[in-house]
Amino acid sequence: MATTYRIAVLAGDGIGPEITAVALDVLQAIAPRFDLEFDFLPALVGGSAIDAVGEPLPAATLTTCRQSDAVLLAAIGGTQWDTLPRHLRPETGLLALRAGLGLFANLRPAKIFPQLVHASSLKPEVIAGVDLMVVRELTGGIYFGQPRGIFTTETGEQRGVNTMAYTASEIDRIGRVAFETARQRRRQLCSVDKANVLEVSQLWRDRLSALSTEYPDVELTHLYVDNAAMQLVRAPKQFDTIVTSNLFGDILSDIAAMLTGSIGMLPSASLGESGPGLFEPVHGSAPDIAGQDKANPLAMVLSAAMMLRYGLNQPAAAQAIEEAITAVLDQGYRTADLMAEGCKLVGCREMGDLLIRQLSQ
Ligand code: NAD
Repeated sequence: MATTYRIAVLAGDGIGPEITAVALDVLQAIAPRFDLEFDFLPALVGGSAIDAVGEPLPAATLTTCRQSDAVLLAAIGGTQWDTLPRHLRPETGLLALRAGLGLFANLRPAKIFPQLVHASSLKPEVIAGVDLMVVRELTGGIYFGQPRGIFTTETGEQRGVNTMAYTASEIDRIGRVAFETARQRRRQLCSVDKANVLEVSQLWRDRLSALSTEYPDVELTHLYVDNAAMQLVRAPKQFDTIVTSNLFGDILSDIAAMLTGSIGMLPSASLGESGPGLFEPVHGSAPDIAGQDKANPLAMVLSAAMMLRYGLNQPAAAQAIEEAITAVLDQGYRTADLMAEGCKLVGCREMGDLLIRQLSQ
């Protein structure tokens, strides 16, 4: 009997619906081969939820997600919602979803597909062979710390405030995920902080160092975030697993994204202690190309593959998807963001059709 999974599907805004359609078709295409069935449960989030029901994360969406085996999210956001009060913005819905599902660990691989070495803005010899993972803390730090807001001082001047704060247990929790992740990889963990300036980072560094005694097989190093940013573009191959806080991870994972040549190639997984994981591309809703069939659906399809591997424990099905992507790239097909001389330009939909054809061979 087939194994049935309930998948909450949050297509979101911008290019979200286009890339979601491709990912769902790909999942349906591999399902019979691995004796799987998917029950897709569409739900609203972000700007499209604001337009439909007036809030970026409707309660019904959170319920659907909590009752699912995994959540597949495309992207949210767009300029038309940027002037709304902060609690009504699409990004607030995404932050609330991550918090509501207790997703404190964000895993972002940056692996160079050999066919795309020339798509990177860095030299091929710097980039070839890069295979790193950024483990980012997701529910703490400056994005959630209190106090926050724009206040008026005694002299009548406006003052914006955010607070970067971590408790020891929050650091230990993400630290353990990072050490365990490094254990599945090349056993090198680099913790990134700003301990020379920030007390919160000093605590981060102390806790990571203390934890490392539990993982003697993993080599722990520390880097300041400014140096880490430089090293990521200077010599990215030195990295295996990186662990860092919410804000630093947000920035460093975008740098890692550009190593690969296109933000359209990067999936991510967000995991909690129990319950469904959230699987989504690193990129945003790309409003500049939305509705034009120009989006690269591969980060979304790779997110579906991560869902199979990390969320549903179906690594063989995940691998089949990843191999189909490699095969289609080998055949020279590229979306506009990856386009190079001698390659064949395809749109979002056609890239999906090629993957499905590949999977049905
Ligand atoms: P973005 O990632 O949407 O786009 C940055 C650039 O990359 C754009 O030029 C875009 O066309 C391109 N791009 C992104 N994804 C692509 C894909 N799959 N294929 C081809 N090209 C792609 O970032 P942005 O422009 O800073 O933000 C746009 C909106 O997305 C904003 O409202 C922002 O808040 C939101 N956003 C959402 C998420 C999320 O949902 N997780 C993440 C980042 C940004």
